[in-house]
Amino acid sequence: MMKKAIFLDRDGVINTKGEEYYIYKKEDFKLNDGVISALTWFISKGYILIVVTNQGGIAKGLYTREDVEELHEFMADLLKVHGVFLTAVYYCPHHPDIEPCECRKPGTLFFEEAIKKYSISRSESWMIGDSDSDIEAAQRAGLKSVKIPTNGNMMELIVKKGIIK
Ligand SMILES: [Mg+2]
Ligand SMILES: [Zn+2]
Repeated sequence: MMKKAIFLDRDGVINTKGEEYYIYKKEDFKLNDGVISALTWFISKGYILIVVTNQGGIAKGLYTREDVEELHEFMADLLKVHGVFLTAVYYCPHHPDIEPCECRKPGTLFFEEAIKKYSISRSESWMIGDSDSDIEAAQRAGLKSVKIPTNGNMMELIVKKGIIK
């Protein structure tokens, strides 16, 4: 039995992206409005949730893999309190100016890994992002996609509009 998945960008989609370009501190991590209710709704419809995020600040030496992994534990705990379980969180630590890679969106390496690992049906799955690179990655991986404005309300913009059913 194949699974259907919602792939999610992190910054600007799950959490608020503000002035600071790179978010790696817990105090800078705030969930966007509508995130809990939208993710709860996706789970109720049988989707698994997978986060795919570019974290080029690691390659630039601005923060470490440990910082990102700690923040992702914090994010997972924050969501778990509300009954929202993330199946996987993938991050690309590279930056094209420093070390080109296949995993940074619009690269599809993490999508391909997840699709194989969790037996995900491409045609039934979606990517939600706020950047062109999120949408391009989804298209290259054969997923449906929806682009929301940065820090847009997923519940209002996607669920209530019936875009994802
Ligand atoms: Mg983003
Ligand atoms: Zn990478």
